[in-house]
Amino acid sequence: MRIRVQKFGGTSLSTPEARKHVLEHIQAARSEDCQLVVVVSAMGRQGEPYATDTLLGLIRQNGDQLPARERDLLMCCGEWISAANLCNLIQAEGIPAVVLTGGQAGIETNDAYGNAQIVSVQPKRILEHLDRGEVVIVAGFQGQTADHEFTTLGRGGSDTSATAIGGALKAEVVDIFTDVNGILTADPRIVEDARPLTRVSYAEICNMAHNGAKVIHPRAVEVAMQANVPVRVRSTFSKEEGTLVTNPDSLYGAEKRVEDRHVTGIAHFGNITQIQVPAAEGQYDLQLQVFKTMAQHSISVDFINVNPSGVVYTVFDHVAEKALDLLRGLGYKPTSLSGCAKVSVIGGGMNGVPGVMAKIVEALTEENIRILQSADSNTTIWCLVHGEDMVSAVRALHKSFQLHK
Ligand code: ASP
Ligand code: MG
Repeated sequence: MRIRVQKFGGTSLSTPEARKHVLEHIQAARSEDCQLVVVVSAMGRQGEPYATDTLLGLIRQNGDQLPARERDLLMCCGEWISAANLCNLIQAEGIPAVVLTGGQAGIETNDAYGNAQIVSVQPKRILEHLDRGEVVIVAGFQGQTADHEFTTLGRGGSDTSATAIGGALKAEVVDIFTDVNGILTADPRIVEDARPLTRVSYAEICNMAHNGAKVIHPRAVEVAMQANVPVRVRSTFSKEEGTLVTNPDSLYGAEKRVEDRHVTGIAHFGNITQIQVPAAEGQYDLQLQVFKTMAQHSISVDFINVNPSGVVYTVFDHVAEKALDLLRGLGYKPTSLSGCAKVSVIGGGMNGVPGVMAKIVEALTEENIRILQSADSNTTIWCLVHGEDMVSAVRALHKSFQLHK
């Protein structure tokens, strides 16, 4: 029998009205004769009683001293409550259902509390329940170590639970239900005519997710890509199929070639600082010192450019002062520019196509936007701009590549 995985996020489970839609999607999958695994997030967002941030707020009130192991235990509860609540609703419809924690569902992780990595998925218990005709509800965002300790997979980790389980079960599809109608060509709050995409490749959506598009957790996409399990990002509140994420063969393969596009979408994020560290004559170990020091202090670096005259890179604004102090401590004279934004032009079809960068430069120059730095891979071109130029850069690029069509 075909197996389908459905994942519902916090907003899809927070109100009785939303949960009605969830039930409809569960019934629809069952009417198509699918065995069904439902992965849930905690209900609602901060402020709502059982949301992850609300649970964390509980201990923050009393001066948070909770060790990482116990914090994970606390956070796991949000998904348990959500799963039990949904189980009750499904049973009330006369559909047999069972709840499994992440560990019971077979998700084994390492012991990096708060950001655990999945080591393996052994879905034996899931399969037993599916064979009994039950809907298996799995608490997302969590696993268990080999020593039976509870762990969480990092914020937003329920998406990863869903794709990992989907991969292990060789599911026909993993549906990620959220509050938007799929993956859009750009953030609709900025670009009015942003359009939902029908199909994207794993690499494209991974780049979008890493570069600021918030529809799906990037790690979830990486896990799906490794298992080659198709993912759909779709809305809980509609019957539309949303965006299908698969490998490029089914996207760009000979007969299946649906779209001949060079650029798929524009992503963006702000609040980053560009740091330049000039090298003095003969200062050959500068690069090594700079990046070793950043690593030792767990400062994540991005947009890295190394050349004989020095290094340029970006960090998040909130760690910039610390990074600059460290550099000064090493005897360097860094300069910095805070409040910058990274604007990314993403497209699996841009590789080897002449003129993409020319078009980007033209679009930005026409708007008097200065490119402070750029970098590229075979699916993305990144531009660093002043924060105040971010919105107009995203709009100009969206228009220039005619992504509204
Ligand atoms: N409830 C968890 C969080 O808020 C996991 C998730 O929603 O995916 O991060
Ligand atoms: Mg989420």
